[in-house]
Amino acid sequence: MSSLYGKSEEELIEELELEKKYQARQIRSWLVKGARSFEEMSDLPLKDRKRLSESGKKVISSHIRDQQIDKSAHKLLIELEDGALIECVMLWDKTGRKTACISSQVGCAMGCAFCKTGTMGLVRNLADYEIIEQLVHLRTLDPAIGHIVFMGMGEPLNNLGALMRAVTCFHSPDMFNISYRKMTVSTCGYVPGIRSLRELDLGIRLAVSLVSAEDETRSRIMRINRTYPLGELKKALLAFQHAGEKRITLEYCMLSGVNTSSKSAKALANFMTGLSAVVNLIPWNKVEGLDFESPSAEEIRKFTNDLDHLHINYTLRMPKGRGISGACGQLATSTKRKTKAEK
Ligand code: SF4
Repeated sequence: MSSLYGKSEEELIEELELEKKYQARQIRSWLVKGARSFEEMSDLPLKDRKRLSESGKKVISSHIRDQQIDKSAHKLLIELEDGALIECVMLWDKTGRKTACISSQVGCAMGCAFCKTGTMGLVRNLADYEIIEQLVHLRTLDPAIGHIVFMGMGEPLNNLGALMRAVTCFHSPDMFNISYRKMTVSTCGYVPGIRSLRELDLGIRLAVSLVSAEDETRSRIMRINRTYPLGELKKALLAFQHAGEKRITLEYCMLSGVNTSSKSAKALANFMTGLSAVVNLIPWNKVEGLDFESPSAEEIRKFTNDLDHLHINYTLRMPKGRGISGACGQLATSTKRKTKAEK
């Protein structure tokens, strides 16, 4: 057992050899408060706190290694038990709404050409407790975080089991009590994962990193499109919506000279026919070592004009956290692991 986060009451009773059921409830309420040790759990009898502290069992497995803040984002670098590093970000908007942007993997296997995380390759999946602990760390910045987006490092639908256990914990009224509607899973278009999410039928929102609605371009910059081209992706999205899920967000990372032409806009309009979706335009952030450019103000203006003429529903989001590499496609860490001597 690496952490108490994500454990049910029954699992806590068994793993911590608790005598009373209510003690598991007490421990879970300390976890929501972000407890890091058994000593802090002051309503447990002293003898239990002592026994549990001496048992060598950990309350939490990760810690904050570094942090950066700018005017709309606070990014945390989290060190996991094995020395792997991940990032999570708290974002806020003018209305005061606070959102946790959470990672699901160390690195990512999808290799999207514009994404810094993609350059890392997949190191490993995160365990459920490692996903949950990111929210715990972010809540130390502000406990009022009310929304969660799985848009950090990794393809969340490629780690669906751990993701769903974490989602259950976030939603559970005696844990973080965040409604499913306030959680968004972002995928690059992993069709089997979209189908599984539809079958679970929880009401979680879906965002798709579309980037291009032209197969040729999309296959060139997003490898997933070679396996699940736009036609299949659209079928999966239509089925997702027919199952009663709400409007889908199509993330459209604008890459200069790649996906901002009038032809690209028409292809986007065509892809959206029949879908209830809103496009989230995100001008790409320049990432060192990646062969793309951010769109100019004129390019953005021209593309949004095209979208207006095509009656496409969109929002233009200037990337938050630009100054701290916390914006779309900018999360990446070195994958240093602890050597035996460091442990
Ligand atoms: S955009 Fe998402 S799916 Fe693609 S490489 Fe980056 S993290 Fe992975």
